[in-house]
Amino acid sequence: MNLLDGKLVSAKIKEDIKKDAADFTAQAGRKPHLVAILVGNDGGSETYVASKMRNCELVGFESTNIRYDVDVTEEQLIAKIQEINADASIDGLIVQLPLPKHIDPDKITEAIDYRKDVDGFHPINLGRMQRNLPCFIPATPYGIMLMLDYYKIETAGKHAVVVGRSNIVGSPMSILLARNANPGNCTVTLTHSRTKDLKTEVLRADIIVAAIGKKNFVTADMVKDDAVVIDVGINREDSIETKSGFKLYGDVDFDQVAPKASWITPVPGGVGLMTIVGLLKNTLEAAKGTIYPRS
Ligand code: NDP
Repeated sequence: MNLLDGKLVSAKIKEDIKKDAADFTAQAGRKPHLVAILVGNDGGSETYVASKMRNCELVGFESTNIRYDVDVTEEQLIAKIQEINADASIDGLIVQLPLPKHIDPDKITEAIDYRKDVDGFHPINLGRMQRNLPCFIPATPYGIMLMLDYYKIETAGKHAVVVGRSNIVGSPMSILLARNANPGNCTVTLTHSRTKDLKTEVLRADIIVAAIGKKNFVTADMVKDDAVVIDVGINREDSIETKSGFKLYGDVDFDQVAPKASWITPVPGGVGLMTIVGLLKNTLEAAKGTIYPRS
């Protein structure tokens, strides 16, 4: 078993981003700037946004966190997004999900100018990704593709099984793996909660991407020998063993599955760190105007 080490790969790529950001800052006279909107006090969301802000600073970006109470209205949020869309000093905007029930996440996503949509959730970016056109790729699938590329994992002609079809992970992941690109050119099966006999489907996989949100869901009896296993899951459980008061678990039963896998991502230390890299790369591209020219 070999580890797909998110710590190592993210550190290397962040070094490159830092150099590019310094060049941009020298030329433009300002740093790449990411704004993150956070609504409410969800513990997981607070941790993710704090980590995104910290990483922006680490690579020389400016970052701004705008916080709202849980009772903010959809109209107030959209008004703020429109203000940010019109602000030329801001390159990227993300609204941390999930949002409270009274706010429609689709309306929020579509309110963001697709040229600042560095999470890659806007229908224009998703559509362009499907067509293999330049776009912002959703940060988590982007990070996974960068990881596969870094380790030169052979994907062409392989059978990939993605478990989970969310708009932000499973679905875009299946599109990227099937694209005529490298990494890519997989034969992809996209599975979900209505899939019949999931175990048989997953057992056929050369590459497994688990994005379900259920601790240790993928067990050793579902994995064929030498499979490549990508664990996207982040499942938080309270713990008295850690300083933070919680422990993270993946969607894959790592201890049982790792001995069978050729390559596997750990949780923590795998996909989560690569997601940040995907976001940083998108923000830098937004600042440089390489995907969508700055007006
Ligand atoms: P969602 O809840 O949006 O989607 C979960 C998917 O899993 C759905 O498609 C659902 O099917 C499917 N599913 C649920 N139960 C089963 C089952 N028994 N059998 C087969 N499929 C099932 O989750 P996300 O995609 O947003 O996130 C998935 C996990 O990844 C979570 O743990 C999340 O925290 C983590 N995550 C990690 C990130 C990172 O950076 N590492 C980034 C984003 C998410 P159906 O559509 O039929 O309901």
